[in-house]
Amino acid sequence: MATASRYYDGETALVSEVGVRATAAELIIFRPADSGIVARWPIAELAVLGDSGHEGAPPVVRRGGEARLVIEDLELRRQLAALVPPLAALAVLPAPVGRRVAALGATLAVLVGLFWVAIDYGTEYAAPWLPYSLQAKLGENVFEELVADKDECQGKPGLEAINALANKLAQAAGYEHEIVVHVIEGGPVNAFTLPGGILVFYSDLIEQAKDRSQVAGVLAHEIGHVVHHHPIKGIARQYGIELLAKLVSGGYSDLLNTLTSGGNILLALRNGRAFEREADTTGVALLEKLEFRADGIAGFFEQMMEKEPKDAASAAGIWSSHPPTRERIAATKRPAAGTPAFSDADWKALRDVCK
Ligand SMILES: [Zn+2]
Repeated sequence: MATASRYYDGETALVSEVGVRATAAELIIFRPADSGIVARWPIAELAVLGDSGHEGAPPVVRRGGEARLVIEDLELRRQLAALVPPLAALAVLPAPVGRRVAALGATLAVLVGLFWVAIDYGTEYAAPWLPYSLQAKLGENVFEELVADKDECQGKPGLEAINALANKLAQAAGYEHEIVVHVIEGGPVNAFTLPGGILVFYSDLIEQAKDRSQVAGVLAHEIGHVVHHHPIKGIARQYGIELLAKLVSGGYSDLLNTLTSGGNILLALRNGRAFEREADTTGVALLEKLEFRADGIAGFFEQMMEKEPKDAASAAGIWSSHPPTRERIAATKRPAAGTPAFSDADWKALRDVCK
């Protein structure tokens, strides 16, 4: 059982062609030329990264290590999946994205392959392939474009209150970067998240929420998007990895133009079904972890269901149209009990943030 596979050592940009074989105890990665051992990974420590929908071959890792192994050969993947229980996910058929990657040429394909790993498996893998500073710059520029003709609310105590809770929630999820929440005056009743931990709330959402738990619930949901890196993944899915690769390869202004022209930004901000479910689940879990009242996400949807706006702007953000609102309510329903995430003073300050 030995077919060429790719091995990324996780420390340098080097990619080596390797052979792979499995014993009862180990996965052995070796150089085809002289059979020299590159790595021995204990079976018990193996993991397959991700849902395998993005890349032809999902990377295999040794847990806790940075190195990655990509096994190109489908037959070999199937054999390993059958033999080695932790590798069972390798048998899942890949999505057609692999063909697009192949068309990019070898150099860029390597970059893009690593790049997918980076955006799927967190900021620790993203460096240096997708520096956080670039994501933040992209988010800031998109934000500037988006609010160019709108008023940003400046109430300092209110902004401090919502930013403090946002950062507390993100820290509870182990997120290492700062979150910045902006409040835009007026409507629609909506909130959304941009790359680089930038959250945008419209003041109509704060005003029309029935109580502070609902605003805390929406905030926690948006933090769910942040900690799962949904905005940058969403842009990658919407526009293709070729475009997002410009972030790392010097075509930044092209990328920004594409994102901010026409109604594109609304498309880019639309989260898929899986992302919304994940953000809902994580949002509730973070509130519960901090021992705050956690009924706000379901409460917000119940309260707003009749008013759900139908215009294009509302297809993005918290209203991303799927999964169905009723299903989201059922999944996030929690008892209306516990300490409110916003104190009395913070909630009052937030209600006055635009005054
Ligand atoms: Zn959402």
